[in-house]
Amino acid sequence: MWGGGQPYLPKVHNNEKKKSMCSVMEVCHLRTGRWEQKPTTGNPPLGVNGYAASAIGREIFYFGGWCRHDDCYHNSLYSFNVDTFNWKELSPTTSHHGPMMKYHCDMIAIKVNGEDYLIVIGGYGPSFNNTPKQPGAQYSGSKTNEINFYKLSTGQWISPTVTGDRPPPIHNFTLTSINNSSAILFGGNTANGDSSNVYILNFIDTSVVSVLLV
Ligand SMILES: [Zn+2]
Repeated sequence: MWGGGQPYLPKVHNNEKKKSMCSVMEVCHLRTGRWEQKPTTGNPPLGVNGYAASAIGREIFYFGGWCRHDDCYHNSLYSFNVDTFNWKELSPTTSHHGPMMKYHCDMIAIKVNGEDYLIVIGGYGPSFNNTPKQPGAQYSGSKTNEINFYKLSTGQWISPTVTGDRPPPIHNFTLTSINNSSAILFGGNTANGDSSNVYILNFIDTSVVSVLLV
């Protein structure tokens, strides 16, 4: 377990104290139920609040998050290796490409034709000074229904084609894998308030078919 809002964490972009406090991983040993704080190496992500995380094998991936000061949100992607405890920045925070800088989105891992992808959906972030809008996605206030694929083998952000019942701009929902190529999206906050909708998302190559179930 990593990051989150915590007392005395400096409300700044980056400094030695923030880096020091964020360079710790909380590890729960399932057999004994004991928690242990373990040091990490490399630079941890700056988006410590409301990031999205997903694991593939021995790597945990962290996307986005709020920086804990002003309107500073991130669209960086990091990997964390659970054997070496080392952080690696795969894609930096930038206004030039990728998903918008945001938090309260969610991310899952899928495998299509033997290739690993991370998929980032929805979220909340300021629209000024952000990435170019994704064709086909909607932006309402600070919410979005962007869907971005990140291809791990090439380090590319890919915009898929989306058909079916696409969720509206949404944040604070849950996204859970069903199998290697589909997921379930539940709840969240939209322009119409809190949602209780359930969507099934099917990933086929670099396209998404979304079905509103309930
Ligand atoms: Zn910042």
